[in-house]
Amino acid sequence: MSETVRTVQMAMPRVVVEDAEPVLPIARLRDSASVSRTGCPFHDVRHMLREVGLRPTRQRLALGWLLFAKGDRHVSAEILHEEAIKARFPVSLATVYNTLHQFTEVGLLRELAVDGSKTYFDTNPSDHHHFFVEGENNLVDIPSAAVEVERVPEPPEGYEVARIDVVVRLRPKRRS
Ligand SMILES: [Zn+2]
Repeated sequence: MSETVRTVQMAMPRVVVEDAEPVLPIARLRDSASVSRTGCPFHDVRHMLREVGLRPTRQRLALGWLLFAKGDRHVSAEILHEEAIKARFPVSLATVYNTLHQFTEVGLLRELAVDGSKTYFDTNPSDHHHFFVEGENNLVDIPSAAVEVERVPEPPEGYEVARIDVVVRLRPKRRS
């Protein structure tokens, strides 16, 4: 009996608490007065949302804070959802998707469809291109000036080219 219990305990997954994981300042969501004095990134998100005409709801603030507090990066809805759960902000994946699309519509994010099933959202909405490491699902920025597109096909009647996204796919070199 005691043997069994010990075995079960051994198999329990260890809870790893990483210091680097952001913990959402939930309290600050309610206390906007203290935030505006500090000028921290959290306040910037509120400001950022107002600038683009989005009401700074609790969900948008929380997801915006998680998205933008770490600088330029590329995240999928699933990754952001996981981060929100880890930061103890319970939100559904559907809400994460909706929020990401709203942020994209107002130009805070850029959507990158790298392959059929995977969409990433880029927190740097300015013009640039990407390396995509196949198998690792990792996107790395390429400055816009580093890629020259020599010939762009004529768009069909009634359309104009909105922008050109170049994805350069990488794989580890095969040893010969
Ligand atoms: Zn990028």
